[in-house]
Amino acid sequence: MNTAKEIRQQFLDFFESKGHMVVPSAPMVVKNDPTLMFTNAGMNQFKDIFLGNSAPKSKRATDSQKCLRVSGKHNDLEAVGHDGRHHTMFEMLGNWSFGDYFKEEAIAWAWELLTEVYKIDKTKLYATVFEGSADDGTEMDSEALEAWKKHLPEDHIVYGNKHDNFWEMGDTGPCGPCSEIHIDLRSDEEIAKIPGRDMVNTDNDQVIEIWNLVFMQYNRKADGSLEPLPAKNIDTGMGFERLCMVLQGKASNYDTDVFSGMIHKIEELSGHKYHESSKTEVAMRVIADHIRAIAFSIADGQLPSNVKAGYVIRRILRRAVRYGYTFLGFEEPFLCALVPQLIEDMGEAYPELVKQRQLIESVIREEELSFLRTLDRGIRMMDDYMAKNADTKSIPGVDAFILYDTYGFPIDLTGLIAAENGYTVDMDGFNVELQKQKERARNATANEFGDWTVFVDGEEEAFLGYDSLLIEGVRLLKHRTVKQKNKTMIQLVFDRTPFYAEMGGQVGDTGVAISASGEEIRILNTVKENNLTVHIAERVPEDCEGAFTLKVDGARRLKIAANHTATHLLDNALRQVLGTHVEQKGSFVGPDYFRFDFSHFSKVTDEEIRKVEHLVNSMIRNDFHLEEKRDATMDEALGMGAIALFGEKYGDRVRVVKFGPSVELCGGTHATSTGRIGFFKIVSESAIAAGVRRIEALTGEAAENLLDTVSDTLKGIREMFNNVPDITAAVTKMIGENSDARKKLEEYAKEKAAAFARVLAENSEQINGINIATFNRDVDPNMFREAAAILQKEVTNFALAAAFEHDGKPQLLLMYSADLVAAGHNAATDIKEAARFIQGGGGGQPFLATAGGRNTAGLKEALDKLVEVITR
Ligand code: ATP
Ligand code: MG
Repeated sequence: MNTAKEIRQQFLDFFESKGHMVVPSAPMVVKNDPTLMFTNAGMNQFKDIFLGNSAPKSKRATDSQKCLRVSGKHNDLEAVGHDGRHHTMFEMLGNWSFGDYFKEEAIAWAWELLTEVYKIDKTKLYATVFEGSADDGTEMDSEALEAWKKHLPEDHIVYGNKHDNFWEMGDTGPCGPCSEIHIDLRSDEEIAKIPGRDMVNTDNDQVIEIWNLVFMQYNRKADGSLEPLPAKNIDTGMGFERLCMVLQGKASNYDTDVFSGMIHKIEELSGHKYHESSKTEVAMRVIADHIRAIAFSIADGQLPSNVKAGYVIRRILRRAVRYGYTFLGFEEPFLCALVPQLIEDMGEAYPELVKQRQLIESVIREEELSFLRTLDRGIRMMDDYMAKNADTKSIPGVDAFILYDTYGFPIDLTGLIAAENGYTVDMDGFNVELQKQKERARNATANEFGDWTVFVDGEEEAFLGYDSLLIEGVRLLKHRTVKQKNKTMIQLVFDRTPFYAEMGGQVGDTGVAISASGEEIRILNTVKENNLTVHIAERVPEDCEGAFTLKVDGARRLKIAANHTATHLLDNALRQVLGTHVEQKGSFVGPDYFRFDFSHFSKVTDEEIRKVEHLVNSMIRNDFHLEEKRDATMDEALGMGAIALFGEKYGDRVRVVKFGPSVELCGGTHATSTGRIGFFKIVSESAIAAGVRRIEALTGEAAENLLDTVSDTLKGIREMFNNVPDITAAVTKMIGENSDARKKLEEYAKEKAAAFARVLAENSEQINGINIATFNRDVDPNMFREAAAILQKEVTNFALAAAFEHDGKPQLLLMYSADLVAAGHNAATDIKEAARFIQGGGGGQPFLATAGGRNTAGLKEALDKLVEVITR
């Protein structure tokens, strides 16, 4: 039996023998693409080639791509664990043709690989073919049908509609018919009952899709119509784990050697057996699956958080914790304890796991701890909800939604706890709330892309902004309109540009485009989209055809460049001071400040911060000149001492940026020498996750301004103390005096309240046998309450009724001595009767209650009412 590793290698070897270039997997976490958070198919990394924005390096490529299907168009999360073939993270094996071979070869090679290399029984295989769509005016894919007929009998060919057999990348863009290969793994008896062709696409774990061959031949335009693509492409994807299941003769992906080690480890840690019950099966699958997605995301630089991609990872982690908690009895963090097993299984192929083990473990552990606390709180809230709804025995949808949305408490857990206690959950109500939330989210992110208006076709654009901030004679290639959150943006693409597009943490450039007729169009931002440099402009130029002059806002760019160079020096200094485990985990580089996130496992002390600042400033004074190598191979770059980051997508040629001891792979713009930074100052250091710290810092003028503010403040304080030489001693002395004075004041206030209490007691009169003190003048309500509290304890058969105006508002107070409360008087309820005269409400305790209102004219009546209720 072949191991998973051998099976993967056979795939790559096969396509290499057919002239394909073997390329590495792109990172699973997608950075710099507004439309996609995670890689969800092998084709993602080739999107710019399919769109015609970049030329392919080779016309044929093959790879194994890490994918994650947990959000957006492809979301399999809910299925994971419940069936044996859907994962969150999985590997997709693929082969590509970029305007080279087409259907005939793609089908022939798929067949050859499956039946001759992998030796799969031909009679078990089925292929689907697109039947055409009247909506789109597309016909049945007879080309694919004819190609399949050479290999398969007709009763093993199944026709599929647009839903199953037409693949689209998104609402617009490259698309085309596809042909899927399915396999029937059922027993002969079962096959005799229902033929395989009737089982295709019926959501059965034994008749499954293994490979999808996509024939990319159209472009879908914004109006929904299709136009043929000039170059026809092949894009295929085969689920690696499913292939292993087939070739290793297993009943589910989890029984293959990809997962068996992990399942065994979970059995060991939990003390439960995998096949003990359907619940333990599902829980162990969920955990074995999710730990991969979580660990790989963290290694790729995506930490769990409250927003976007980070939130998706947090939800996956919580789902795993919850299954472990509910079905396997894990009440302490356990996912972090599975990382060593994952490393054993996958560390050789994915060294980033080994290298970042400590970070992965501590981030997971911290997340688990915090979610376990949430679970605890959620369970207590459930108790309250159940008590509140004891009559209906139903938890309202809104409450279930609050638990879900605010506390991250999964709805099925809410359902489970409810059921255990004989309650139901109003799922309709819950779904209404969920729908509302989805709509809110959709409205916040909906983009409407117009079609490109093209002026010049096919010319490559180039970034010239490392050397120039102004370029003349530039041609506008195309423009389009994009609507986002009801805002309309104009996007311009030029053949060459000095504008840096937002990337690698560095913000995009701003500036102007000047048309041939002299019209100035402001460029508000510059971003990358599918490898195109897109200039966000305030409007469409009147003259699109003439030559443009592009001019970057130079002063702003210089500040950004200084900050970017400072991040490199900071990185270098941190590694010197804290150790070489420090690794960049993200950054933001703008004109006004920058921040730098890095792995480190404790707080950076004030002393260490000082050291780092001094090191960076000394590198600045050394005035190291920028040494740049734009076209280095990865080996050359590593040879120069550059550090490659995991989770970054590097091309074959990389840019090395060196300033003295600092060497980095970087595409950003930089100061020409470190002296240009001027001066560097850290403003804050904090934790953003377990094992990840954040430093925010300023350079140049911004740092200078900060120091001005600090010294102005200090100067101001000095002046308040008549410029004494030792300001610290003076302030300490004043704080001491201040606290003594406060203590005296408090004593005085107590005495005053006691005196006031005596006056009240002495001025009471007996009505219906009760001593009643009434009061109607303005007084500090705090002192008054204090006095009432003293009286309440000290006197008997006594009530105090007050109605007065304070700060322009009517106030009531009612107090009963302890014996009267014992006899049944209740200030909290009694005061309500009087409160309506001042149009207000109140409350408190049986011995002391207060009320506020709006109608000062009613104070007299309110006081009379108080006396009346006291004596009743
Ligand atoms: P399915 O209908 O089984 O969900 P799909 O139509 O979504 O599959 P494609 O988008 O065509 O699948 O992806 C190509 C291949 O990747 C599939 O043939 C399958 O083998 C594999 N695959 C798809 N989704 C998953 C997943 N969630 N986990 C593991 N493998 C998957
Ligand atoms: Mg699917």
